[in-house]
Amino acid sequence: MKRCPTCSRLYDDDTLKFCLDDGTQLADARRYDAEAETLRNVPKQPEMSSQDIIMEIADHLRSTLGPGDHRLIRFETLSGLGLTTAQVSEHLEAAAEKADCEVLDKTDTRAIVQRNPARLVRS
Ligand SMILES: [Zn+2]
Repeated sequence: MKRCPTCSRLYDDDTLKFCLDDGTQLADARRYDAEAETLRNVPKQPEMSSQDIIMEIADHLRSTLGPGDHRLIRFETLSGLGLTTAQVSEHLEAAAEKADCEVLDKTDTRAIVQRNPARLVRS
């Protein structure tokens, strides 16, 4: 079976090469279906709430920085957590606050973050 990519008309005649209506080169209908199936099966990125994003970044900061450490954080390194550079950039300050860190310098793609030294607990 053949299928016209332009008008979606199906042709049973496999020897036909061009659509009789618009002259578009016909595609194999089965392959077309397989492609459509593939597109349908692409998993959608689950929507993360701002709260989730902040938690993820805060966890990352806590695990990356020891008390008193400061480090250059490239936002792209958080893509492994499913976060885009834009998401990290947008929520970094809130995450830093949550992780007891301070953002010393920041651009759209990276930031220098310092974790506050461990506070001394008076006994
Ligand atoms: Zn057509």
